Formats: sequence, C-alpha cells, structure tokens
Amino acid sequence: MGKCVCIIGEFRHGAFRRVTYEVASEGRRLADALGVGVCAVAVGSGVADKAAELGRYGVDKVYVADDPALENYLAEAYVPVIADMVAKCDPAAVILPASVDGKDLAARLSARLKAGLAQDCTQIACENGAIKAKRPIFAGKCFGWCEWAEGALPVISCRPNVMDCMVPAEGKQAEVEKVSVSPAQTRSCVKSIDLDTSGKVELTEAEIIVSGGRGMKGPENYGMLEDMAKVLGAAVGASRAAVDSGWRPHSDQVGQTGKVVNPNLYIAVGISGAIQHLAGMGSSKFIVAINKDSEAPIFSKADYGVVEDLFNFVPALTEEIRKLKSSCS
Ligand SMILES: Cc1cc2nc3c(=O)[nH]c(=O)nc-3n(C[C@H](O)[C@H](O)[C@H](O)COP(=O)(O)OP(=O)(O)OC[C@H]3O[C@@H](n4cnc5c(N)ncnc54)[C@H](O)[C@@H]3O)c2cc1C
Repeated sequence: MGKCVCIIGEFRHGAFRRVTYEVASEGRRLADALGVGVCAVAVGSGVADKAAELGRYGVDKVYVADDPALENYLAEAYVPVIADMVAKCDPAAVILPASVDGKDLAARLSARLKAGLAQDCTQIACENGAIKAKRPIFAGKCFGWCEWAEGALPVISCRPNVMDCMVPAEGKQAEVEKVSVSPAQTRSCVKSIDLDTSGKVELTEAEIIVSGGRGMKGPENYGMLEDMAKVLGAAVGASRAAVDSGWRPHSDQVGQTGKVVNPNLYIAVGISGAIQHLAGMGSSKFIVAINKDSEAPIFSKADYGVVEDLFNFVPALTEEIRKLKSSCS
C-alpha cells in the first residue's frame, strides 16, 4: 500500500476553491482509516503562499508547483506536472474535486498513472483496508459502489458540496515543499479567461439555487427569479427547456447535459422534474418545488411542494423573505 492519501487542490484567482477543503477533509478521514498521512498537490500562480493553510483541513504535507504560466488550468501543462508530483507522494489513493477542470484532470491523470478512476463520487469508505467509492449511475437514477483490484491505484473525484468539510484547526500549518517546473512543461498556457462574472454566484458553488423552467413562459419573467435570488444570496439556474428556448444561457443549465449542483436549498420553479433534470440537482439537501400541476414528477423528489401558479406565488414569497430578513437584521 502507498504511503499516504494524496489530494489535489484547485487553486483559482489567488485562493483555493471550497471543494479543495472538502476533498482535503475526506482525504484526512480516509487516511485515518488506512493509518497513513495526507499529502496534497497544489498547482497555480501564487499558490506557494497559501499552501500551508491546507494544514487546517488535515493535510500534513503539500507539494507546490508555483508558476505564472500555471495560473489557468490547461491539461497539456497541468497533467504532466501533477502526475510527477503525485508519483513523489507514493499514494494509496488520489482524491480530487469533480469540478469541470477536476473531471478532465482526473481522467487524464488516471490514464497516465495507469490507475482506476471513479468520477463524481458522493461517498468514500474503507472496509478492512479496501477503499470503496460510491457514485451515481444511469443519470443519477441509482448509485453504485466502485472497488479496486489489489494493487490498483484508486483515483476518486468528489462531487462538490457533498463531502463534509472538517472544522478548520486554527493555526495548523502543513509542511510545504516547492517543486520546480521546467519551461518545457509550461510551453503552452492559457493567458487569460474572460469570465462572465457580473456579480453572479457560480452555480456549482452556490448554497442556494433558484431555478426556472418552461413554466416561466419567457425570458422577461426571469426577473422575478433574479429578485428572489438576490434576497436569498442565491444563484439562478434553468432547465434545458428554458435554455433551448433561448431564455437563459447554457451556463445556467442544470441536469444531465448541464451542471450537476448540490446546494443546501434548490427551489424549482415551473420545472416538471424530468429524469435528466433530476440527474443534476437530485442530491440537493432540500428541494422546494413550485408548480401548478400537483401531478408533476418534481413533487416526488421535493421536500416541500407548493401547488400554485408561480406568477402569484414567487413575488409573494420574495416579499415575505425580504420582510423576514429585514426584521432579523
Ligand atoms: C439526452 C437528454 C438530455 C437532457 N438533459 C437535460 C438537462 O441537462 N437538464 C434539463 O433540465 N433537461 C434535460 N433534458 C430535457 C428533459 O427531458 C425535459 O424536457 C426538461 O427538463 C423539461 O424542462 P421543464 O421542466 O422546464 O419543462 P416542462 O417539462 O415543460 O415543465 C414545465 C412545468 O412548468 C409547470 N408550469 C407551467 N406554468 C406554470 C405556472 N404558471 N405556475 C407553476 N407551474 C407552471 C408545468 O406544470 C410543468 O410541470 C434532456 C433530455 C434528453 C433527451
């Protein structure tokens, strides 16, 4: 068995993304079960200054590749650098975020390491020293447990916002070892990315999502969802029907061919609850459905259901939330 559990951090725009802490916490739990330590691999521009903070989430040692050319993810540059760093760790398992970049990296890395890959996992377990990972199959209709043959290296990507983040141990620092990157490894790089930020909360990181479907009737009516999202500090999502109609950008689409999200609260407005939509949001912690059809399939998945015309209910609900928030502040 390898010497540690190796986690791969995701460092963007000068900070680790929250999912890095989830993955580190899960890495610590697995390492404790296996009786080994936790190593991290962190790649990016300016990451060396932040790497030690992973110690607060159970990481013992961080291997860091800090180079301006590694500011943005590019498989061609990241994969060989990370593969070398992972090999240095001699891991029993590699755990990384199942983000958009993370899933791409996981597939390429596992091929390079001749490892066995389980993508988008929601649980990791260890039974008698054997590692198992649970992942959705058949578009989230059911879950399967993956196991690895003896001697095979598990590479496990974890769905964001599912694994519990440990309470950070204040003041605890990880040991940091810098790894040099050769110019040949960074001869290609992404110079810049134009993000459509406009103050929007990123869907996959949002704690609350208000999502609208075909029942919204047109793009002009999404203003009422944006109002509610603003009051709740939420992101706005959409069903494919709304995206295909050109009412919302594809980056807002939740589902099998859109984004997989795991917020604490998902409010589905005028969405029927097709299996392909549920594949993207079915593991949200609380689901509220607002739909005028009491037979809509979304109600079988919802924790709270409101059978009502959304055009009456949504503005009234937003107003009530606003009142409640102002009375609390
Ligand atoms: C290969 C494949 C991949 C797909 N991927 C995705 C995906 O990633 N994401 C996705 O969402 N879909 C996906 N789909 C499409 C999916 O099958 C559904 O067609 C789609 O999710 C339906 O969107 P909807 O719920 O907004 O629309 P509908 O199914 O038309 O539902 C609209 C709902 O709004 C309700 N409604 C209407 N008016 C009101 C009102 N005034 N007040 C309250 N409620 C109202 C209706 O009762 C109805 O339940 C995919 C399909 C395929 C075949």
